[in-house]
Amino acid sequence: MNVKYFLILIGCLSVLSCSSSSESDMLVIAHRGASAYLPEHTLPAKALAYGMQPDYIEQDVVLTKDDIPIVIHDICLETTTNVEDIFPDRKREDGKYYVIDFTWEELSCLNVSERFDAQTKQPVYKERFPIHTSYFKLHRLSDEIEMIQGLNKTMKRDVGIYVEIKEPQFHRNEGKDISKIVLELLSKYGYTTQQDLCVLQCFDAVELKKIRKNYLSDLFLVQLLEIGYLDEEFRNKTPQEIVNYIADYANGIGPWYKQILEGKNQSKIKDFDKIVQLAHEQHLKVHAFTFRADDLADFKSYEALLQKAEELELDGIFTDHPDLAVSYFKKKNR
Ligand code: CA
Repeated sequence: MNVKYFLILIGCLSVLSCSSSSESDMLVIAHRGASAYLPEHTLPAKALAYGMQPDYIEQDVVLTKDDIPIVIHDICLETTTNVEDIFPDRKREDGKYYVIDFTWEELSCLNVSERFDAQTKQPVYKERFPIHTSYFKLHRLSDEIEMIQGLNKTMKRDVGIYVEIKEPQFHRNEGKDISKIVLELLSKYGYTTQQDLCVLQCFDAVELKKIRKNYLSDLFLVQLLEIGYLDEEFRNKTPQEIVNYIADYANGIGPWYKQILEGKNQSKIKDFDKIVQLAHEQHLKVHAFTFRADDLADFKSYEALLQKAEELELDGIFTDHPDLAVSYFKKKNR
């Protein structure tokens, strides 16, 4: 190879190595934003996460009564907002306040809080942001995409979005096709192919398969897996059968890390901890959730937990502490 082409090749490789903002093979996905530090899924939590230089920032998406995709983890409002104070008579018979029963204009009136237990009113994570303080609001998926794309412009970076379709069957029962609406919105903002810094994730295998096969989406699709939850498609399959099934329509899997720890596999499926290797054999990426420095399971430190992520040969992790994960993986790859 002549020297000129060799230098061009080196230049291209250095650009490629910079394209991952955490400068490591391990993708860091800011789980609900910088959710360890500010209330999850608020724009301030997303802006803070952006500044921590993850590869992707996550959006969980639920539809409003007027079909607006908003960014919120639950299909109900009472554990992260003051809905009970503002709309006390709008709960259903089960005592819950559903996003889908409110218009975007109504939802805009609510204040968002750090997550708390709806019964006890106590914070879920006691060391995190104080509940019911400061000024946080819900926002639309479009608001967040515009903020991330705007920051990509001003900060000259390429941070991706990592969108989860929440409970598609619930939406369908309410007469709404959430996937169709979200795909149209993503397309409007330029996210249509696997090269577009957008990952689409879902627990519902029937829905994700439909997104590929029926809606013909070319996005990078990740099948979330939490055995024991929304897993009708997988409960009676072996790990090999599961990855074979998923490889037909998705590009990756998103397992719960506690279910892939060797010898500590908390799923009910035998040898489920082998799924990382089996997925790689099928050319599926593995992005596991959720790595929290304030919920370490049996690990003695967050670094020990992140080291386990490397030993498991994961391709990416969802974390509430993107700053710590980015700094750990940067250091390792210096
Ligand atoms: Ca999620």
